[in-house]
Order: sequence, then structure tokens, then C-alpha cells
Amino acid sequence: MSDEGSGRYASPALDKGLVDPFGRAVTYLRVSVTDRCDFRCTYCMAEDMTFLPKSDLLTLDELSRLCSVFIAKGVRKIRLTGGEPLVRKNIVQLVRAVGQHIERGALDELTLTTNGSQLARYADDLYACGVRRINVSLDTLDPVKFRAITRWGDFSKVMAGIDAAQSAGLKIKLNTVAVKGFNESEIPQMIRFAHGRGMDLTLIETMPMGEIEADRTDQFLPLSKLRADLQRQFTLTDSPYATGGPARYVTVEETGGRLGFITPMTHNFCESCNRVRLTCTGTLYMCLGQNDAADLRTALRASHDDHYLPQVVDEAISRKPKGHDFVINRLTRKPAVSRHMSVTGG
Ligand code: SAM
Ligand code: SF4
Repeated sequence: MSDEGSGRYASPALDKGLVDPFGRAVTYLRVSVTDRCDFRCTYCMAEDMTFLPKSDLLTLDELSRLCSVFIAKGVRKIRLTGGEPLVRKNIVQLVRAVGQHIERGALDELTLTTNGSQLARYADDLYACGVRRINVSLDTLDPVKFRAITRWGDFSKVMAGIDAAQSAGLKIKLNTVAVKGFNESEIPQMIRFAHGRGMDLTLIETMPMGEIEADRTDQFLPLSKLRADLQRQFTLTDSPYATGGPARYVTVEETGGRLGFITPMTHNFCESCNRVRLTCTGTLYMCLGQNDAADLRTALRASHDDHYLPQVVDEAISRKPKGHDFVINRLTRKPAVSRHMSVTGG
């Protein structure tokens, strides 16, 4: 990999910070490195997905160069996601290039959201490149149900991935999407599992993104209800812990561990939004739940100087909307946004 992504844009003259029209500083970039995945989770994808032609994708060098532009403009945290980030060929090259910004103090954290299927293979490399924390998505502890919700996933591989990641020294947070009629009765067991292994657990409401086979009203489980159910067997104490993200945390007194709730549908968290999302084709979405986007690929390929691309990024941030307006109901069966979560990576 060339070194064009490792600091070329870190000129102090460009380091003015990204602040949107509502005064929110954008310090967090999520990068979807591929729209492909080795699973087909029922709430995320249709079984028969059409993926982007590989020729549309930014190269790893280009993704690295874009990350460098954002870092020079004040982004302090980058999360690689997907699709499944670890199925992108040679992904470690990108992790290494971005990780170098941590070494030189320009980036606080490089992290990753993964389904865990390839973790056993990559855990040591991730740690060596500067990754210290990862999110692993896991919706059930039952191998049969796991196969049903992921359609293609192998539970034992994910468990081996979690073992390998912990052995490598990576701190793990589990993300669990709450799916009505599927995993609500299992959540107490998942809390005990996660906390017993020193992992936080965050519960997520399903969001109406992209066409899937299932009816989203059948999948949607408000976390307010789940929380009320959990309070019958656990003592949940509000926690001041915050990661700058949308999760609200409680401490589960019985386990001593942390439990997060991400409630885009029942509680709007946009007022504190500090993030933007870049897709693997170089499209920048300023909000997960809106369609407005900026084409950074054209700007990236049109110019190799240090000025044009940062200007395009500034212009995009000046259009960051106030928030999303997700709705799930039986009248509007269309998803709130037509792209799948695997495009912008959640
Ligand atoms: N493949 C990786 C994984 O599963 O962790 C990274 C990408 S995945 C799109 C990121 C997160 O989004 C996962 O935790 C997944 O469960 C969640 N997700 C996908 N579709 C969703 C939806 N429609 N509503 C809520 N969460 C969703
Ligand atoms: Fe793949 Fe993650 Fe979507 Fe599941 S949630 S299909 S693992 S991208």
C-alpha cells in the first residue's frame, strides 16, 4: 500500500474542525469498506442481494486517503464497518494505514463492527495495528436460532472469533438487535453471558432501512418494553457512562456489567450526533436516516492537491441535517430510506 493515506493531508492549515450548521462538531467517521457480507441477517438484508460491482469500490488506498482528510479536519475516531468489514480483501492494509494516525497522536481510536465470522483469523492483526476495542454483533446464543436469523452464519465460528479477540487483548462490546418474537426471552441469558465474559452488551431497535422479505412491523420490538421486562429480574441503575454515541447505559447491579440501549425509533438521539458515514464507493451520508449525500469519489479522483477534497468535505458537513425521521407502521410499508444498513454500516 502506498503512503498517500498516512498524513499527507495533515497540514495544520486544514485543521479547522468540522462543525455542522447546528453547532455539532463532527469527530467520528464510520467507513463502510464493503457492502458485501458472508451473512444475510433477516432484518438487514434480503437473501438474494445484488451487490455493487467491485469496479465501483474505492481502493484501499483511496479509502485511506479519505480517512486522512477527515483526520486532518478533526475526526478523532474511525469505525470500519460494512457489510462485513473483514470480508474485504486485504483489509488489514487499511487498518494498518489508519492505525498509523493513532501512533502519531492524530486519532484517538480505530475500531470495527463485525459479525465475528472472520475474527479468529484477524484478531491478532487488528491488535497489532492499534485496534483495542471492537463491536461484535450477536443476536442469540442458540446455534439453531443463530442460523435462522443470519441465514448463512455459523455460530461456532463467531464464538471462536470472540475467544480469539479476547485472547488477543481486544475489548468487546456485543450488539444485539431486539427482534420481536425471536430473542426477547433470551436477553437475560445474553446479559449474563456478556457480563460473565467482561463484555458490555447493547440492545438496538430495528430500523426501517432497505427492502427485506419480512414485515418490519412484525420485527419491531420497542426497547422501552424490553427494559420494563428486564427490570422484573434485574436492578438497572442509570449510568453516566457515555461513548459519545447514541447508546444510553445502565449498570446491571446483579452482574456488575453495563447494558446499553440504542433507541432510534422510540427516542431520538440526533441532538448529540457527532458522526458522518462514508460508503465503500466514496459517498458521504451526513445522516443515517436521510438520503442527502455527497460524492467524495469524484472529488477524490479529480484532484490530488491538498485543498479541493477538504473543501468538498466542508461543503457536505454544512448540509448535515438536524436529524432523522424513522417511522415503522403498517400504513407506510416502504422503508424510511431505501438503502440497506449494509451500505452505510449502521
Ligand atoms: N456486518 C457487521 C455486523 O453485523 O456487525 C457490520 C455491519 S452491520 C450493518 C452493523 C450493525 O447494524 C449490526 O449490529 C447489525 O445488527 C445492525 N443492523 C443491520 N440492519 C439493521 C436494521 N435494519 N436495524 C437495526 N440494526 C441493524
Ligand atoms: Fe451482514 Fe452485518 Fe447485515 Fe448481518 S447485520 S447481514 S452480518 S452486514
